[in-house]
Amino acid sequence: MELFKKKILSTKAGKGLKKGRKSFIPKNGPTATVIQFIVIFLFIIASYSVIADSQSSKSVISVSELASDISAGLVSKVTVEGDTLDIEYIKDAVHKESKKEDSTALSQTLVNYGVPQTKLSAVKIEVKSPSGFFVFLVNILPFLLPVILIGTILWFMTRQARGAGMQAFSFGQSKARVTMPDDKKQRVTFSDVAGAKEAKQELSEIVDFLKNPKKFLDIGARIPKGILLMGAPGTGKTLLARAVAGEANVAFFSISGSEFVEMFVGVGASRVRDLFKLAKQTAPAIIFVDEIDAVGRVRGTGVGGGNDEREQTLNQILVEMDGFEPNEKVIVMAATNRPDVLDPALLRPGRFDRRVTIDLPDRKDREEILKIHARLKPFAENVNLSVLAERTPGFSGADLYSLMNEAAILAAREDRTKVAQYDLIRSIEKVMLGPERKSHILSKKEKEITAYHEAGHALVASVLPYADPVHKISIISRGRAAGYTLKLPLEDRKLQSKREFLDDIAMSLGGYVTEKMIFNDVTTGPSNDLQVSTALARDMVTKYGMSDKIGALALEGAGGRALFGRGLDDKEYSEKVSADIDAEVSRIMSEALKKAEDIITTHRKALDAIATKLIEVENIEREEYEKIIIAFGIIPKKKLDIEHQG
Ligand code: ADP
Ligand code: MG
Ligand code: ZN
Repeated sequence: MELFKKKILSTKAGKGLKKGRKSFIPKNGPTATVIQFIVIFLFIIASYSVIADSQSSKSVISVSELASDISAGLVSKVTVEGDTLDIEYIKDAVHKESKKEDSTALSQTLVNYGVPQTKLSAVKIEVKSPSGFFVFLVNILPFLLPVILIGTILWFMTRQARGAGMQAFSFGQSKARVTMPDDKKQRVTFSDVAGAKEAKQELSEIVDFLKNPKKFLDIGARIPKGILLMGAPGTGKTLLARAVAGEANVAFFSISGSEFVEMFVGVGASRVRDLFKLAKQTAPAIIFVDEIDAVGRVRGTGVGGGNDEREQTLNQILVEMDGFEPNEKVIVMAATNRPDVLDPALLRPGRFDRRVTIDLPDRKDREEILKIHARLKPFAENVNLSVLAERTPGFSGADLYSLMNEAAILAAREDRTKVAQYDLIRSIEKVMLGPERKSHILSKKEKEITAYHEAGHALVASVLPYADPVHKISIISRGRAAGYTLKLPLEDRKLQSKREFLDDIAMSLGGYVTEKMIFNDVTTGPSNDLQVSTALARDMVTKYGMSDKIGALALEGAGGRALFGRGLDDKEYSEKVSADIDAEVSRIMSEALKKAEDIITTHRKALDAIATKLIEVENIEREEYEKIIIAFGIIPKKKLDIEHQG
């Protein structure tokens, strides 16, 4: 009986577990299994003690007590069952229990205890052969229990192993995160996305379709199946995809490309299958594959060990997309910041043929984004977000978000209840360059070298006509830099010219040149400067056609060396051209070096003044910096009109 109950209980638990696995919201992890196991274990122990109890529910007396009770004439009947005695008393027909030795007869035992013959014959003695099942149970249980226990453990272990396999094949346990349309908390709409006007416009068409597909289908329009969002990291691709789902009020399945590819071969592909099946069941729906370049790279290059798994996953995505019925209301969105490495098969018509580019936000958009993230933060009256937007060219939406957050943290750390403009301004540098490393103390000599190095950068930047104006110089180390010169462009720009590049390179070399001139020695400090400027010079020659000698040839792909789709070693140009490139790069670099040297020599007095001031105060802001250079006859670049407010 007890055994049966146990069995029923455990199968029930098993079923529950299976159900949990199937559902796509992960519910029971290993903890649940452990709990079930403990419950069953306790149950076994409890049932065992129930069996044990059932034997001893009557009060137990010793044989000597029995003997004296018989002598006193209190007992009416004794039933012998194996070694167990059931004693019935005359008074109230009470039953008691006792044990005797197995081998000896009861009557003999009682006589040995001194019970008189007469009294003994007054008691009815009945001998029963013990009930088969009961004896069986009592005797076998001590052996059976461990077996059952081990069996249960084994059963659980195999279940778990099977579970792990199943997990790989179902979304159940894992990966796709689903946002249902009725989930108001997670709902994102276009109003949460600032800027990105073109992208929003393009995507509102998709929203329209998802809301009202009939209108489009009736007129025979083919609905796009795949939309590829392209843009730098942090520009809000993921956010926009969510917003489309939010606007259209449809289910949103999101998975990242790297999650497709996991330990087991074939898992990526079956994940894709599962995901699409699930989405079709829930249609209308959006499937969002984030960072699709993780699976969608050009196939068959052999670079990186020829990842079969990835190829299968990609193939499965393509197969699924081709298998869509025209009226299936599932749209696949994908995001990448490397559209250049994507497999062309992904991009052909009928797949991700809609491409939406999301640019880094411009000044106005940055202000909008800041406003969105400012909604939940208490600000002091003096906060001016447009100044902040002005000072953050090149920041992505994610950067701006973290800027706001850093400012709030700063304010909280200083026990203020409102975020001040000062907090926000300080956070710009933190986001750009990493936190200040106040503990990184420079020695007196290092401080001097760093001050001259940065002064050199700043001075070259101020003298050259096409370099960006200097906003701040600092010799407090931040992130990996010992000191830094912050220069910001006068306006957002999409295009850069050769003249600007050349001045940029000269400005990068300003630190190196200064160290060499002043201290007659070079430290490891400028190594990053050299790397950056050499790379820029190389790009000018090989990518942008900015060298007269090489001419208008793009010798290298947009993403650096052409790597995907070709072997590693194939060069697309001859040794001769290669030598020409090197010569041109050297020429650009040495001309820039000369330019920087001339400036430092001519304005040596200004350099000394800036460096001295830097050693003294460690940070020089734009206003103060410009006062110094004006005193030495250098005219600062045109001021931004809102600069005064900050
Ligand atoms: P991506 O996927 O392009 O790398 P995300 O969509 O993950 O970028 O953006 C990261 C965060 O940055 C968002 O959660 C949001 O807080 C913020 N963000 C980015 N772009 C915008 C924007 N245009 N408007 C508002 N917030 C933005
Ligand atoms: Mg993203
Ligand atoms: Zn430098």
